[in-house]
Amino acid sequence: MKFDIQPNINPVSAQERQDILRDPGFGTVFTDHMAILKYSEDKGWHDAQITAREPISLDPATCVLHYAQEIFEGMKAYRTNDGAALFRPDENARRFQQSAKRMAMPLLPEDMFVESVKQLVKIDQDWIPDIDGGSLYLRPFMFASEVFLGVRPAKEYIYMVIASPAGGYFKSGSPAIRIWVSEEYSRAAIGGTGAAKCGGNYAASLSAQAEAIENGCDQVVFLDAAERKWVEELGGMNLFFLCDDKTVITPPLSGTILAGITRKSIITLLRDKGYDVKEQPYSIDQWRNDANNGVLKEVFACGTAAVVTAVGHICSRDGNFTVAKGEPGALTTELRQQITNIQKCIGLDPYGWAVKLEA
Ligand SMILES: *Cc1c(COP(=O)(O)O)cnc(C)c1O
Repeated sequence: MKFDIQPNINPVSAQERQDILRDPGFGTVFTDHMAILKYSEDKGWHDAQITAREPISLDPATCVLHYAQEIFEGMKAYRTNDGAALFRPDENARRFQQSAKRMAMPLLPEDMFVESVKQLVKIDQDWIPDIDGGSLYLRPFMFASEVFLGVRPAKEYIYMVIASPAGGYFKSGSPAIRIWVSEEYSRAAIGGTGAAKCGGNYAASLSAQAEAIENGCDQVVFLDAAERKWVEELGGMNLFFLCDDKTVITPPLSGTILAGITRKSIITLLRDKGYDVKEQPYSIDQWRNDANNGVLKEVFACGTAAVVTAVGHICSRDGNFTVAKGEPGALTTELRQQITNIQKCIGLDPYGWAVKLEA
């Protein structure tokens, strides 16, 4: 299936776009186009379009507004010397299918997913900021669009991709973040939707995130729902612990955490550097002890939005503790640089992770 391309006849002027791209912030301004693709039980996927970005109108009884059958992805296009590049888009396509399965939604073929993203980036390439840490944030998503209030998987869906220019999430050389341990709220439970990238997981995390902000922290860290003991992840980032000079622990993909593509990439990079990477449970008590005993050298969080970010301070109702000196460590900085270089096609890409788009 091919995308029917209908260019926006009334795009933002080049001057206005340039003004926006000097300081785009995050998630508030959008490009001129969007991708849209429909699904129905009888027709399958149909009506693939790249068209002017515009509001969509929904009947008040549209399924997603009531039962939250919705999934999404988060990825970025980067400006390179001679065009643009995506980072491992096939991984996002696969994960989108996994999320769809869990939410009883139809599977979008991987090549359609990747094609939708490529076509949108191609037509909106001029929207990729040319500033330090800048990128074009891409948001593919799918929702139940059938007009029906019964409780069962919907028979109609809409898939879309929108794009938003983004500045550096945290400025380079930024201090380590401060995180709040959520003891009251859980993000995901065994058998639940923690491994799916669905809007509902974020809805469930917002009270905890608000509590983190009230307590002077940047982000919340969730513990497992059964024992309230094992460290899982942040609201939208995975965690790594550098325990001595050559051992790194990251919580395992046991069904309650999201399988980050940045996480997977970092595991590969670390193993190739000779680190012993253990995907094993790590408790909040051990974290506190290892930090206080000086065993813990570095802790960092990772995800598409912020790439790699040092975690310096941990706060909870039981008190606070600090990792190392509360400053970003050498490994954190090195991994961040290595990943951002591959994303921008600077230097070697030994794993073939960057997918270049012709200008
Ligand atoms: C998207 C997401 C991540 C990070 O995944 P990346 O593929 O690395 O961007 C981590 N945790 C949660 C809960 C997420 O939704």
